Amino acid sequence: MHRLLSSLLMSATGLALAPAPADTPLRGFFPQSIQAERDLETRFKTMPDPARMRAAMQRLSARPHHVGSPYDKDNAEWILNEFKSYGWDAHIENFDVLFPTPVERIVELVSPTTFKASLQETALPLDPTSNQQAEQLPSYNAYSVDGDVTGPLVFVNYGVPADYEELEQRGVSVKGAIVIAKYGGSWRGIKPKVAAEHGAIGCLIYSDPRDDGYAGGDVFPKGPMRPAQGVQRGSVADMPVYPGDPLTPGVGATKSAKRLSVAQAPTITKIPVLPISYGDAQPLLEALSGALAPGSWRGGLPITYRLGPGPAKVHLRVKSDWSLKTLYDVFARLPATTEADQWIIRGNHHDAWVNGAQDPISGLVAELEEARALGALYKQGWRPKRTIIYAAWDGEEPGLLGSTEWVEAHADELKAHAVAYLNSDTNSRGYLGVEGSHSLEKFINGVAMDVEDPEAGVSSWRRVQASRILNGSPEARKDARDREDLRIGALGSGSDYSSFIDHLGVASLNLGYGGEDEGGIYHSIYDDFYWFTHFSDSAFVYERALAQAAGIAVLRLANADLLPFAFTNLAETIQTYVKDLQSLRDRRAEQIAERNRQIDEGLYKFISDPREPVTAPRRQQPAPQLNFAPLLNALDSLNHSASRYDKAYDRAVSEGRSSVAKSVNERLIQAERALTSTEGLKNRPWYVHMLYAPGFYTGYGVKTIPGVREAIEQGEWQNVDREIVRAAAAVEREATLISALATTLGGA
Ligand SMILES: [Zn+2]
Repeated sequence: MHRLLSSLLMSATGLALAPAPADTPLRGFFPQSIQAERDLETRFKTMPDPARMRAAMQRLSARPHHVGSPYDKDNAEWILNEFKSYGWDAHIENFDVLFPTPVERIVELVSPTTFKASLQETALPLDPTSNQQAEQLPSYNAYSVDGDVTGPLVFVNYGVPADYEELEQRGVSVKGAIVIAKYGGSWRGIKPKVAAEHGAIGCLIYSDPRDDGYAGGDVFPKGPMRPAQGVQRGSVADMPVYPGDPLTPGVGATKSAKRLSVAQAPTITKIPVLPISYGDAQPLLEALSGALAPGSWRGGLPITYRLGPGPAKVHLRVKSDWSLKTLYDVFARLPATTEADQWIIRGNHHDAWVNGAQDPISGLVAELEEARALGALYKQGWRPKRTIIYAAWDGEEPGLLGSTEWVEAHADELKAHAVAYLNSDTNSRGYLGVEGSHSLEKFINGVAMDVEDPEAGVSSWRRVQASRILNGSPEARKDARDREDLRIGALGSGSDYSSFIDHLGVASLNLGYGGEDEGGIYHSIYDDFYWFTHFSDSAFVYERALAQAAGIAVLRLANADLLPFAFTNLAETIQTYVKDLQSLRDRRAEQIAERNRQIDEGLYKFISDPREPVTAPRRQQPAPQLNFAPLLNALDSLNHSASRYDKAYDRAVSEGRSSVAKSVNERLIQAERALTSTEGLKNRPWYVHMLYAPGFYTGYGVKTIPGVREAIEQGEWQNVDREIVRAAAAVEREATLISALATTLGGA
């Protein structure tokens, strides 16, 4: 059905998106260069081929290919040869990283009844790769510490800090207990971290059918959703502290690197963790008694959700093989002409938890088609101004290992040469999603306007705009209608852009289509070719759209006369973050004052049900007034220099002032670096970007102006003013740099 619909639409709309007329401005190009760039892009867009992407996906996902497996290496070598056959200069770079694989896994109910969890995803006759048990990694959470624990079970909802406040009020402690948390609500590594902080001795994480199982549709193989035995694997390393190899923080995991011992590695969990299916979770949850779980905590199983503790008592045993494994990062390079010292880097990972057709092969096959098309243009005589580097990362799934180790090993070169990093990961049908550096917001809007959506026959940009007008909040609707550019989100973590933007301050973008396909196969054995070709982009036309979008972005960055950064959107976005922080402080102040008043008035004891008693929460320190003035002053400077830069840019472009381009480009690539601070974030110095970071207690989810935001959220009021000053200093540095660039460009 999907395939038929897509191909009908395709032939009906064909090349409905007419190429822009040559005199339409193109960000980064002098008038005399626009026609050649447009012609080149028109040729490029016809090249990515859905049939080739389908074949490549079938080949790359044919067998399990996790870090350290034979097929992971085999895939890397295949990718290497593909790049070479496209005419690129390609090589593999190795790193040796800690990657634990499971040796023993036990989850069993030992009282009041007994039940032994199967911990096994079942092979399905319809699905030809689901029976490769000999090569599949068993379901587990990588970087769980080894352990053998027995204790009463407690249900903790998603296992985020707010859930523990709720439990505490109900008098439920997890001290000495094994917690069972649902997947969702935060990145998974947060769950064992917060559980251990509250004194739990073990952690189980399960996929509730309300979240990605039968509540959302038929389960696999009849439909796309998670079947009863499906398990989400995944890393639980404390990546908000630092990603990459736990033994080599801040340096590349080369053969000679100095390593921590496993016992010293701070990102390994404090308590043992295992993921389980809802088939295995149901008997455990059913054996809980105690208070009813709050309404919003209950899932989709046909049971009464209770909190415990006990009487269900669970035995959990986890033991891993902690040997080092070799990573195979694949790189390909197209040589440049005049600005070879400036690098445009594009990447997608190649390793998977199991067969990984969607995650990551759906993104990788698009990247390979881009490389093939760029190689063909090169053979036809095109030469990029800047060096283009394509990367296929290994070890993304366990903890962004391949990208992080490479970035750490080459940090100095990258700081000097990297213009931008473009990432993709999974891709499916729907809307073009973009997150990244706001200095590239204007640029990527321009790209999205020139890539056709294969189902709607309008530009990818227009389709996103339509959906925001129809489905957005009133503010989002107004923005979508009136603002020149569609807003892009900020980057948190969760894929290979993290070390580029968070650790080095390399301007980054993450691109991917999605939003029309539901699924419940994430990180399971069912994320495979059968699933993808039945329930996702079966015509591979969104794979082609991704190749077109990312490829055009690469072409424009590599060919631009003036690098296409723009700073008015950045300044305006930072302004929204600051407003947001001010209202966050006021909201927190009000909540704390009201809560403290309720406690003082003794209201909790009046409403407590003696059969299910609730105690008052703890008093909190009232929120002080904060001094946002340094940040507001820095923003004034940035607003001023960003609009000066814009005017100077327009004048330089209209006058075709190529004489200043070289010196401006060299300094423009430092603009994102200016937003970093060498001392990094408090308690996690690996993260140096002052505007974007993954949340310490959310994991993938971004925290903007993280130093300030997290100090407010966590009630560390004594740190806030200092963090405001640090963020302000970064914004001031940016303003100073941009102002100097405006002067060079010829702005008054
Ligand atoms: Zn991925």
